[in-house]
Amino acid sequence: MIGLTVLGSTGSIGISTLDVVARHPDSYRVVALTANKDVERLYQQCLEFQPRFAVMADGDAALALERRLGESGASIRVLAGMEGLEHVAAMEETHYVMAAIVGAAGLLPTLAAARAGKRVLLANKEALVVAGALFMQAAEQGGAEILPIDSEHNAVFQCMPADFSRGLDQVGVSRILLTASGGPFRSLPLNQLQDVTPDQACAHPNWDMGRKISVDSATMMNKGLEVIEACWLFHTSPERIQVVLHPQSVIHSMVAYTDGSVLAQLGNPDMRTPIAHALAWPERIDSGVAPLDLFEVARLDFKAPSFERFACLRLAYEAIETGGTCPAILNAANEMAVDAFLSERLGFTQIPAVIESVLEALPVQHDADLDTLLAVDEAARRQAEQIIRSRV
Ligand code: NAD
Ligand code: MG
Repeated sequence: MIGLTVLGSTGSIGISTLDVVARHPDSYRVVALTANKDVERLYQQCLEFQPRFAVMADGDAALALERRLGESGASIRVLAGMEGLEHVAAMEETHYVMAAIVGAAGLLPTLAAARAGKRVLLANKEALVVAGALFMQAAEQGGAEILPIDSEHNAVFQCMPADFSRGLDQVGVSRILLTASGGPFRSLPLNQLQDVTPDQACAHPNWDMGRKISVDSATMMNKGLEVIEACWLFHTSPERIQVVLHPQSVIHSMVAYTDGSVLAQLGNPDMRTPIAHALAWPERIDSGVAPLDLFEVARLDFKAPSFERFACLRLAYEAIETGGTCPAILNAANEMAVDAFLSERLGFTQIPAVIESVLEALPVQHDADLDTLLAVDEAARRQAEQIIRSRV
């Protein structure tokens, strides 16, 4: 039996992960579930999966969960805070860690799993954006296996030769083609963008996701973060990564080879496919996803993205070019701007403006250690908050 910790089990990826795991009760045993403060959902998941540990990042929520579990008679240990998260990411009885916390909040537990040499099923792209160099180094030193869950990176991984870590030139790969749906506003007239609401931004045409990544998809910051993620995962530079608008979300990404071949991975837009792939790799298991019906899809369209419509994508390309702490600043400013947009404190088109102002205000440092990165994340959040306040 493979022991599994699900970090962020109450979110969209966490729920899909448990759906796949429940189909294979003889292969996977859930040893820990974690959430921020959704006591009710974590409680229900605990009753169903009977993990050894349940962790809530929020201390009060942990107390409430402990009380409820106590009343139900379940013998599940409840831990709290970052220490608890790091503990269940690194403990011995866990073999695989699904890293599905949203945002930089997932960095430390995901890093703990990498250091401890786990198989890390990596959905938390922000961890790589903030600390890509440190994370890849920790994984190498710890002997961890990193399997991408982001549908694009999982597709790229499936289309890459097995020994891609030797370097893309060595294995004959010329480019990575990252597909993007373009989100709900891909063809909205530009002058209407400033008035869109959080609910409109979260109504993604093809995917059902958490609210933060849904807004990131609408601004295409999500694709920008994914370009940065791909640079780290596939040991390459941003000019080798091309973003392709593909509104149907059927091709999840492609790899172009020097001989002119282009390999693609296709499937219905359902995260249970990459999750099942990474859980079973190098084998294949049932995911519950319906088979792809190409006649129903009928056509596949491709277009270049516009930096005018999607300024966040440009900012992300610039941030990885600059390197150092620049992507960490970009990420923190984006998290704050998206949060302000979701709570209706900031307009949609102000999101890239806030990020750009934060990037201009803060110096970039190179070869940063973890403490420096965490301090930069803090400073960028403070700066962003100030700018957001000055705009309302
Ligand atoms: P979500 O908002 O639905 O769930 C987030 C989870 O993280 C929840 O369990 C929540 O309790 C937990 N969490 C939030 N803040 C926390 C904190 N401060 N400390 C500890 N735990 C905290 O998000 P999601 O859509 O499932 O996305 C999770 C990650 O996966 C993100 O990094 C996202 O970019 C990535 N991802 C998601 C999808 C998708 O289809 N949803 C696809 C690709 C990548
Ligand atoms: Mg993705």
